[in-house]
Amino acid sequence: MGLPVEKTELTGVKKQKKRYFRKHEDLYEVLQKIKLWPSRSGTLHGIRTITRKGAFIEFVTHCGNKVRIKNSKTSRVSRWLRNKWYVRACSQCKVPGWKLEKFSSTSFQ
Ligand SMILES: [Zn+2]
Repeated sequence: MGLPVEKTELTGVKKQKKRYFRKHEDLYEVLQKIKLWPSRSGTLHGIRTITRKGAFIEFVTHCGNKVRIKNSKTSRVSRWLRNKWYVRACSQCKVPGWKLEKFSSTSFQ
């Protein structure tokens, strides 16, 4: 399943299309598309794999963090993603610049 996602992302880069999400989009859907997760300390990590487990979301970051959060539109993660709050990108995750640019041009309406 990894390859088609990569292709989609590459196509997105070429087009430089602005990405939109509904303001109250399901958190799982947002994380699955953005593939970025801001930790509580303000570090933005890249998501390697993500799965939905009932009311929870489980994912593994590129730096090896195993995270389990509640799939909630009103959670801290939802809010931080909508406001694009983060302090720095994780150096271990090696989040590419284009991905950060795409994230900053993402609109939540
Ligand atoms: Zn990381």
